[in-house]
Amino acid sequence: MPMLHFLRMKKSIPLIVGNWKCNPKTETDAVALAADVVRLRKKAETPYVAIAPTALHSSAVAKKLTNSPVMLVAQNTSPYTVGAHTGEQSVAQLKDGAVEMVIIGHSERRAAGETNDEVLEKTQAVLAGKLIPIVCIGELKRDKNGNFFKEVEAQIRSFAKELTPTQLKKVVIAYEPIWAIGTGETATADDVKEMQIFIESILTKVHDRKAAQSVRLLYGGSVKPHNAAELHTVGGMSGFLVGGASLKAADFIAITKAVI
Ligand code: PEP
Repeated sequence: MPMLHFLRMKKSIPLIVGNWKCNPKTETDAVALAADVVRLRKKAETPYVAIAPTALHSSAVAKKLTNSPVMLVAQNTSPYTVGAHTGEQSVAQLKDGAVEMVIIGHSERRAAGETNDEVLEKTQAVLAGKLIPIVCIGELKRDKNGNFFKEVEAQIRSFAKELTPTQLKKVVIAYEPIWAIGTGETATADDVKEMQIFIESILTKVHDRKAAQSVRLLYGGSVKPHNAAELHTVGGMSGFLVGGASLKAADFIAITKAVI
């Protein structure tokens, strides 16, 4: 069983997760990208760094991450355990493949039909398997009256109210406004700060302040080397979920350096 880095993670140290989505095209390229991240990352102590390759490339990438501080993340999981579930991969299988965290409810999966109930089921499966769920939430668009807060609140409540405070503390929440994903448009650093306060206030209502404050929040949506420092210092969240910029090792590592 490989060492589980997340067991020693402290919320005060930011976590930067690279979501490679359906990239790159070949396993050779995926292994090369992972090798570059490991090489560039070797000396740095903080922040925590993690990458999420495709399921097909995961085991080859895992080999490159052995004995490195870079953690392996899955982009999705089945809510089921082993058995007759064609096309699925269970938490136990991900864990056996050295995965430590699992992205759940990414907006691209929600757009493909994943519901809040499925997000909850998967979150519970990941927690039962003693891995870390990274639950994605975020509004489709913003409106002047702030109705988008209701959308975000409904997403949070749909899973948070079903978890115990002890379970909730193990969840990472990634706030990713959909209009900012892959568009080059970002929320302003003040918007991120406002959302950090809002999410913590909802979690406090659902459970309590202590549980709410121990949940790690990430921001995602067109984070790049040039905007990472301000989004981090003003935004007040505990790291980033990075899509496009995680496909170039130099950009990804520049983002990790911007939060030190
Ligand atoms: C993402 O897909 O989670 C994401 C944040 O993408 P990007 O950084 O490209 O906006």
